[in-house]
Amino acid sequence: MHRKPIVVGNWKMNKSPREAIDFVKQLEARVREFDSVDKAVAPTSLALTGVSDALQGTQLLVAAQNAHWKVGGAFTGQVSATMLRGLAQFVILGHSEVRAYLAETDANVNRKAKAALAAGLQPIIAVGESLAQNEAGETIDFVRGQVSAALAGISAADMARVVIAYEPLWAIGTGKSATSEQADGIIGAAVREPLRELYNDSVADNTRIQYGGSVKPGNMAEFMAQPNIDGALVGGASLHVDDFAALVEIAARVKGS
Ligand code: PEP
Repeated sequence: MHRKPIVVGNWKMNKSPREAIDFVKQLEARVREFDSVDKAVAPTSLALTGVSDALQGTQLLVAAQNAHWKVGGAFTGQVSATMLRGLAQFVILGHSEVRAYLAETDANVNRKAKAALAAGLQPIIAVGESLAQNEAGETIDFVRGQVSAALAGISAADMARVVIAYEPLWAIGTGKSATSEQADGIIGAAVREPLRELYNDSVADNTRIQYGGSVKPGNMAEFMAQPNIDGALVGGASLHVDDFAALVEIAARVKGS
């Protein structure tokens, strides 16, 4: 089975709409040739329209950083999955910063994933344990629980559009990444194998799973070489055109065919 590599840059609360447009124009020219890799940028929601317009007709895709499960209504500050139609192909859900600072729950991640799928988007569902959980040996059970809660009620057919990102909290924005073997083992035991039980072999073998946590050009090849890792969700390094382009090039070289 071949899983197309996927590299997504999560810009978080960085880059103005104008900066975002300038950036994606430069990046698109640098990554155009790597069509064996799916690649997307996740700018601030303010920049989604401009970035989406700037990237029309290209293979550099757009991700939103979050989306509400309701179609519309009295939800101040929120953006619905329905509103993202035509502006983004992916939406990141359950990012650890949203879980930590905006009290995101597994139940809400599940509602949001279903709403995203219904709106025609591809959810990128982020899961991962804290340092304390990791040190207490709770990683596998905890991440497994996040995965099954996020996917409750999602059909095997819809799983073809779901991406899962394993991001140990202690490796995000800290410069401290998990070793590639560690990450691959956790992804296998806590994400891919549970998919076999929750769904079937085909879903387990075909679902794309990213690693995230201080990924940069210097360590990308190691992660991409691991059997369970199909790409990266990248924060810091995705803010620089050279680094982002290098990550896509490495993904293409290591797993692009
Ligand atoms: C992230 O925010 O998803 C992330 C992995 O950040 P960084 O690459 O900066 O660790």
